[in-house]
Amino acid sequence: MRKKSTKKLRIKNLPRFLTFSVLSLTLLVMIPLSLFFLTSKIATAFHSHKQVAQTSETVNSSQANGSKSEPAKVNNYPSTITKTDPPASDTDDDPLADIKSRLRSGDTAGIKVVFLTFDDGPSANTGALLDILYDYDVKATFFTTRHDNENAAAMYRRIIDEGHTLANHTSSHDYSLYDNPEAFFADVDALDQFHKTITGQTETSHVFRFPGGSTNSSEACVKGIVSRGWNYSDWNVSSGDGCAEPPPSDVIAQTIIEGCRKYDVSVVLSHAELKESSRKAMPIVIETLQAEGYVFLPMEKDYHYPRHFEL
Ligand SMILES: [Zn+2]
Repeated sequence: MRKKSTKKLRIKNLPRFLTFSVLSLTLLVMIPLSLFFLTSKIATAFHSHKQVAQTSETVNSSQANGSKSEPAKVNNYPSTITKTDPPASDTDDDPLADIKSRLRSGDTAGIKVVFLTFDDGPSANTGALLDILYDYDVKATFFTTRHDNENAAAMYRRIIDEGHTLANHTSSHDYSLYDNPEAFFADVDALDQFHKTITGQTETSHVFRFPGGSTNSSEACVKGIVSRGWNYSDWNVSSGDGCAEPPPSDVIAQTIIEGCRKYDVSVVLSHAELKESSRKAMPIVIETLQAEGYVFLPMEKDYHYPRHFEL
């Protein structure tokens, strides 16, 4: 009786059991499958997004590397191209607009301007000097000659990028060319073209200094520079570092500071790229004169400068 009853029960529940089994199996298969597809969809979407991001990074970095005319940075100081002063015609917001306009007109009584000028570089020390100027946000003028090496190329560019004036001091610094104006101007033009090639600029500053100063030059050479529309500057404050054994930095600093106090517009002659004591004097000079209200400016072609030889 018992056996029979059990058998009956099994047969009776078989369709329901089968239906339940099929449904359970379907659910057991479908749920993991759905989850798998959903997961793989998300993974694919994430992966392709990452690829797009990586591709654009690669493009950007290859663009940056491919641009050989970009300035070679020797440290982490940011470029100051965007911080350069606005042109003279657009100086409404420039706090130095009045000073600059007076430098152009020659009406300079009491304006307390200092032009730091560094001659005969670039050298292996130009980067260290530029770092000092950067730290004080002071702009200067570099009367460069031709130095054809990788560091010098980076320095010519950095001088411009950081808002200084890249000025011409002839290619060769050869005094003998003063007797041969044609050769002299070929030498000046060679450096001008070199500057353009290295920096990628189409125009140079047209600010010039004669090697040894204008009194060492010849009338024909001075006339030639002026007739070409260039400006030249000598100096009224010498740092005294032109000799083989320059004085210690505190003496150089004092010489420059006392010299600048005598003039409304000072042009300081320095060889701080070549002489360590001059380089070390710069922070003292800058801090002292800034505290006394002096303004440091980079040279421009249209300003009035002290000249030892006037036509
Ligand atoms: Zn020189």
